[in-house]
Amino acid sequence: MGKDEMKVIQAILTVSRKEYVTPHYIRVYLQGDAVQQIADTTVGVNNKILIPPNGVDTVYFPEFDYERGLWKPMDEAIRPTIRTYTHRGLNLDRNEIWIDFVAHGDEGPASAWAITAKTGDTLGVLMKHGKTELYGVAANYLLVGDATAIPVLGAILEDLPASAKGICMIEVHGSEDIQQLDTKADIDFIWLHNDMPQKGSLLADLVKVRSLPQQDKFAYVAAEFSTVKEIRNYLRKDLGWERKELYAYSYWKAGVSEDKSATDRHSESEEIQA
Ligand SMILES: Cc1cc2nc3c(=O)[nH]c(=O)nc-3n(C[C@H](O)[C@H](O)[C@H](O)COP(=O)(O)OP(=O)(O)OC[C@H]3O[C@@H](n4cnc5c(N)ncnc54)[C@H](O)[C@@H]3O)c2cc1C
Repeated sequence: MGKDEMKVIQAILTVSRKEYVTPHYIRVYLQGDAVQQIADTTVGVNNKILIPPNGVDTVYFPEFDYERGLWKPMDEAIRPTIRTYTHRGLNLDRNEIWIDFVAHGDEGPASAWAITAKTGDTLGVLMKHGKTELYGVAANYLLVGDATAIPVLGAILEDLPASAKGICMIEVHGSEDIQQLDTKADIDFIWLHNDMPQKGSLLADLVKVRSLPQQDKFAYVAAEFSTVKEIRNYLRKDLGWERKELYAYSYWKAGVSEDKSATDRHSESEEIQA
């Protein structure tokens, strides 16, 4: 067994309940014994969800070939669909975690799964063991994201100390999708509305016209590919923000499923980090 393999939590969880937080945002609660292990991770980190094919009521985890750095091939009849989501919260007494899904229609398997999920359905979850630092420590924050980033930004906001200040810009489908995000910090929230996020976003334009933190600062940016690229370029190249002052990562790419856009999203991020 490879060293990293031992650090991965493989959980087969069962839907215990589900709620619409807003019209385009579904919170799915999941129970299982492995939740006790997930308690050892940080709320807000990403996970992999594994959706079994129709008619298969358990999850067959793919095996990783550590020598070749690839997942081993699996029979299509049992192969789960894998997507990246965010560990949004946990209740150890109930043996329960929750994951928030943007309901963006039934074209994507993960969104479709969340829309139709019912109590008793099975979902696989893969996570790395251990606590992680979610964001850089600073006095002033710039938090920018579309609906897919609300889970991570929500976790950061909950964690920030009362002494922190900042701006948080979030784009959602419409005014009915604005959420109450709890924080002790002094945060100026700006909500944008966009009912066609696949056609583009105004987040980057907004970042360019707002006055941003000047010193002792940290930015967390998570949104669609083009938006993240534009904001990263603006902060790093135009404004000269240092690499350590910014975490920016594209969470999806318009017109492309997550598994097909992974390479583009990683290389875009590496291109400017270098
Ligand atoms: C680290 C990380 C954490 C993430 N955390 C979350 C999370 O907590 N909650 C969450 O909802 N998403 C999250 N995402 C984004 C999520 O992985 C993608 O939206 C993913 O594409 C959804 O899978 P799918 O099967 O629904 O659609 P896919 O099969 O991947 O895509 C199908 C089509 O839908 C489009 N599409 C995908 N996402 C959206 C969207 N949000 N709005 C409109 N069109 C879309 C695609 O461009 C494609 O055309 C995260 C991504 C990353 C990298």
